[in-house]
Amino acid sequence: MLDGDTIVALATPPGTGAVAIVRLSGPAALRLGGELFVADGRQTGRVEAPTATALRRRRAMLSGRLIDPADGRALDRCLALVMIGPRSYTGEDVVELHLHGGLRLAQRVNELLVAGGARPAEPGEFTLRAVLNGRLDLTQAEAVLNLIGAQTDAAIKLAADQLGGGLGGAIRDIAAPLTELAAEIEVGIDYPDEEHEPPDSEAQGRTLAAAADRLTSLLETARAGMAVAGGVGVVIAGRPNVGKSSLFNALLGRRRAIVAAEPGTTRDLIEATREVRGVAVRFCDTAGVRDAAGEVEREGVALATAAAREADLTLLVVDATALGRPDPAAPCRDWLAAGPVIVVANKIDRCGGAWDQAGEGPLRRELGLSAAVPVVGVSALTGQGLDELLAAVYEAVTGGAGLRQGAGMLTTARQGREVREALAAVRR
Ligand code: GDP
Repeated sequence: MLDGDTIVALATPPGTGAVAIVRLSGPAALRLGGELFVADGRQTGRVEAPTATALRRRRAMLSGRLIDPADGRALDRCLALVMIGPRSYTGEDVVELHLHGGLRLAQRVNELLVAGGARPAEPGEFTLRAVLNGRLDLTQAEAVLNLIGAQTDAAIKLAADQLGGGLGGAIRDIAAPLTELAAEIEVGIDYPDEEHEPPDSEAQGRTLAAAADRLTSLLETARAGMAVAGGVGVVIAGRPNVGKSSLFNALLGRRRAIVAAEPGTTRDLIEATREVRGVAVRFCDTAGVRDAAGEVEREGVALATAAAREADLTLLVVDATALGRPDPAAPCRDWLAAGPVIVVANKIDRCGGAWDQAGEGPLRRELGLSAAVPVVGVSALTGQGLDELLAAVYEAVTGGAGLRQGAGMLTTARQGREVREALAAVRR
């Protein structure tokens, strides 16, 4: 898959800033970089060969001038970071030009390098090359993406652990005894006359069972790992006027959604993210679901229903003061069966102490909730019960598992799929 091209791309976000980095990787990186960059003390030519000491450390930061080859005039004073393959990020020769962060300047340098023969890199291509050249394994490449996307400190630590080889190492530890077992068995088949004693079937069974155990425990980290690494989406849904927008504002600690005494005021989806114990939770306030009269509101209801289907968790808000009146959860009842749901009984401040005394029992009975569906009583107005609600959200999206450091956690759907396949194969 490596085509021998030298690729180029802006490594920093497009826009203006203190520094912009244009990165080159491939066999012509030093030559192409050298057509634009002239190290201090030199007239023209290649990116200056790093000094012997720098070479031993496989990197060198040079300062110099960036010139336009068309007229030989300076475009910038900049730094060039030279990394000689194979001990570079991509495994190839890499030159990074650290320019002043002007949008046009970076574009111009990019254009000049492309004119010189570099090819614009595809998204992720530098990391792809690192994987193809054996500098990173696939879990580490995924960790790079997780690190870039990390929204919480816990997500950073998890990604850094994976980048350091935590997960890849755990997988290799599981695979090694299996590879050895397969080799032992094959030797027995290929050379039946040798004095080689293959492991008996009991020993084989023990090796396989141990691998299955370790794969199972790795699989159990997937829910929490994916929640921490990628964040989760939680939809706040329910009938109009039960206090969804008030709850949204109370959870996000600011007035984002419109709160109104009149039903049906939230017609668009409003989203905001907050951290819940290391998990970035994107809360989404929806239009109240009811038999909508207006066209706009009908649209909002459709959006809400779609959002609830795609969410990792739905908070089905009901009005705790409406117990005994017609089903407070209709017409969102089917959501109870659709996926993970927490039923949130709001406005308990208006129950005159009835909620505190009777608890969730009456509501459970009225809605016919199974014991598996958590119920939390809250008041969006006073803040009562919100901590319990956040604890229940964390429990629901992570399965309650904490962060494992060093031993590796699964953080992507791909990893989960492959470990499940491996487990099925070991069991077979
Ligand atoms: P939504 O239509 O479900 O988004 O409901 P809103 O958040 O707009 O709230 C509807 C009405 O209920 C407003 O008048 C709120 O002030 C009121 N409300 C919301 N939450 C509470 C609560 O916990 N306690 C009390 N007493 N009133 C609340």
